[in-house]
Amino acid sequence: MNSMKPSLEKLQKFFNLEAERGYDNNAVMGGLDRMLEHWETEARTDELSEDIINAVTSRIRDYSRLSSASRAEVLDGIWKRVTESEVESPQAPENSSEVTIAIEEETSPPEVEDPSLPPTQPAISQEITPKISPAAGEPAALDAPVTVLRGIGKNNAKTLERLELRTLRDLLYYLPRRYDDYSLLKPINRLEYGEVVTVIGTIQSVNLRKLSGGKRTLVEAVISDGSGSIKLSWFNQPWRVKTLRPEIQVVASGKIDQYLGRLVMNQPELELMDRTQLHTNRIVPVYPLTSDVKQRWLRRQINQVVVHYAPKIVDPLPEEIRQSADLIDLDRALLQIHAPDSWDDLRAARDRLAFDEIFHLQLGLMRQKITWQERTARQFTADEEWFKGQFSRLPFQLTHAQVQALSDIVADLASGHPMNRLIQGDVGSGKTVIAGLAIAMVTKYGAQSVIMAPTSILAEQHYKTLLHSLAGVPNSHRTYGPPSLRADQIRLMLGATPESEKNEIRAGLDSGNIKLVIGTHALIEDPVSFADLQLIIIDEQHRFGVNQRALLRAKGENPHLIVMTATPIPRSLALTVYGDLDITVIDEMPPGRKQVTTQIIQPTWRERAYLLVQKQVEQGHQGFIIYPLVEESPSIDAKAAVEEHARLQSEIFPDLRLGLLHGRLPPDEKEAVMSAFRDGEYDLLVSTLVVEVGVDIPNATVMIIEGANRFGLAQLHQLRGRVGRGADQAYCILIPSIPDELENERLLVMSETDDGFLLAERDLEQRGPGEFLGTRQSGYTELKVANITNVRLIEKARRQARKLFEVNPDLRGEDYQLLADFLQQSWSTGQSDIS
Ligand code: ADP
Ligand code: MG
Repeated sequence: MNSMKPSLEKLQKFFNLEAERGYDNNAVMGGLDRMLEHWETEARTDELSEDIINAVTSRIRDYSRLSSASRAEVLDGIWKRVTESEVESPQAPENSSEVTIAIEEETSPPEVEDPSLPPTQPAISQEITPKISPAAGEPAALDAPVTVLRGIGKNNAKTLERLELRTLRDLLYYLPRRYDDYSLLKPINRLEYGEVVTVIGTIQSVNLRKLSGGKRTLVEAVISDGSGSIKLSWFNQPWRVKTLRPEIQVVASGKIDQYLGRLVMNQPELELMDRTQLHTNRIVPVYPLTSDVKQRWLRRQINQVVVHYAPKIVDPLPEEIRQSADLIDLDRALLQIHAPDSWDDLRAARDRLAFDEIFHLQLGLMRQKITWQERTARQFTADEEWFKGQFSRLPFQLTHAQVQALSDIVADLASGHPMNRLIQGDVGSGKTVIAGLAIAMVTKYGAQSVIMAPTSILAEQHYKTLLHSLAGVPNSHRTYGPPSLRADQIRLMLGATPESEKNEIRAGLDSGNIKLVIGTHALIEDPVSFADLQLIIIDEQHRFGVNQRALLRAKGENPHLIVMTATPIPRSLALTVYGDLDITVIDEMPPGRKQVTTQIIQPTWRERAYLLVQKQVEQGHQGFIIYPLVEESPSIDAKAAVEEHARLQSEIFPDLRLGLLHGRLPPDEKEAVMSAFRDGEYDLLVSTLVVEVGVDIPNATVMIIEGANRFGLAQLHQLRGRVGRGADQAYCILIPSIPDELENERLLVMSETDDGFLLAERDLEQRGPGEFLGTRQSGYTELKVANITNVRLIEKARRQARKLFEVNPDLRGEDYQLLADFLQQSWSTGQSDIS
């Protein structure tokens, strides 16, 4: 970092002082939060990003309520956040051409290259909302490149391309990230400190001052509206003096601040009164940016397109459905999402666009399901005697839920249509055995099966298990019949498999000698061909893209498909997310499994958790220490994990062997660490969220989850599922990063139940569906609007889709033509395998 900005210097000074004083909240007299008011103004002067300012103020506001341990953490967290983002968004040099964009021309914006745009885009943002998919019924002109706009030439087009904005359509569907509400218009004498408002007034006077050392400047203008006057000021924008001539009428929007007892506006947005107001005096959209694209400029380009084209769009959604679902028209929705007249209008616009997404997806899924069911597939059956023989090979009895899952599969395999089934069951519920039995049924006929897992380590695990259960020596003398396969008929194919061996496997699959191959992505990407592929099993299905599943399917002729997932998803959502699949839930754990003892403890009691870990390791066990997403940024998370790993190793567990796993490691290194841990080379694994879900490490009996308040319950449950897989009692300690009563209460349910579905339902109630839809599952990765809305809406869309599908699956009739076209279009462009 180059020389530190004054506001940051101050922050650092206070923080250091606090640390020296042992976090007694007295570095600033009266409490650290007393500094906020002043600091905020200063930070704006320094042009820190609003997100950073927010991050600082929101966290310091509660500072007095925290224990000293949490205070230390909070300050550390803030500082990390501040420094990271400062590094990532270097101060841009000032830009003197903005004035032309800002004030002069609305109709023919000049061709401006803006290499120097201030970094309005936060360095870290989790709510980026890019484009939604185009709809039918659009004017063809929307296909035109952005360069047809008067303000955009070749260079600007290049810059926009970085935001994937190439055509007018892209602009039309580029959605705001958030909105600034400048809709409150007030006379100057009624302004109040702290409010965000718009004032309209005439410029009385303007002056330019040089500040400390002459490097920084301050432009001040006084405007009055007859009721009173107020001073507006801008730091480091000296060019403003040229445009702010006395007597002109302007509209200013921003926050009312205070300076020396008087109300002022710092850095307000400003527009000429006699122009259309785009940046002031209304709810103003704020778009995701990249460096070199300026908010006001982009806003204006998008506005041109929206105003011109949105009204020309013909709504593909039939009137009947619109009415029944109580939705606004598409053209209005597009206008309002960019330029809402009110928050209610914005909500309606979002609802409409979100509805479309879910509705289209649902229609796609339903159609997918029908198409799939219409095909014929090979039938596989087995009699009771055969099953007896298989069961006798198992070292345990199947649970009821496993038996149910198996009978669903048996029915599918015998149906003559391709199976398309999701087996959903908590970690450890025994999905692999069921998969193994399905494979045995298929290989009984000499046909081939494939299992695909997301990582080598999981693939290896399946390989070992299945080698044992399908080709292994029977474990009981009352075994009926021989093993299903010979060991050499089962092969493992990973990216790292030597080429010579791969060749051998390819040959074996091609000739049909190999009956079961287990692998990773490498398998799909490989030009392997099967002699007779009849069963595909995909483990942890959400880790695979839709295309990958389709590619595998294409290697056989209407093969049967089983996908497995350990992600518990609330039943209410399951049908929506997995609309094209039949679903079987394994909701029962094998007997004798001990519940993981789970405790929530205050951060200050951390030492006790360490003690527990130490003891477990002394007894020969292993443990995990999980760190949360500190920020929505892999680099920061990785850094936190790296630092913690070092600290734990040197200060807490100097005698133990600590492994480290985080998202920044390349995949093969991640796997190497995980394998080493599995093989007992580490006592403890310090990790971010990337620990593999399915990896079985029976010797791991303890897990500490730091920052537990940052996780959803379903997520915590999945993490916890990595311990307690052996015979010994296992422990899970949840440590929230802040001693917040409410948070702790929310987490308490973790100690009360280990029912993943129940926890998922709770999660849904507490945090909405984003958690579930936001994962890489199914077509939901494409959702831009819907995941920020609610389950009710999702269910509404699903209901409407089902209703329509029941009465008019082929979308016949004039009213449905556009919708049919649209769907046709999107299905034919690679969306053929949706979930
Ligand atoms: P999942 O893939 O659903 O997480 P696995 O199939 O890996 O679970 O099974 C977890 C462990 O439980 C395995 O060691 C398996 O042998 C064992 N297991 C599976 N079914 C039963 C059962 N019915 N009774 C006892 N143990 C079982
Ligand atoms: Mg598994």
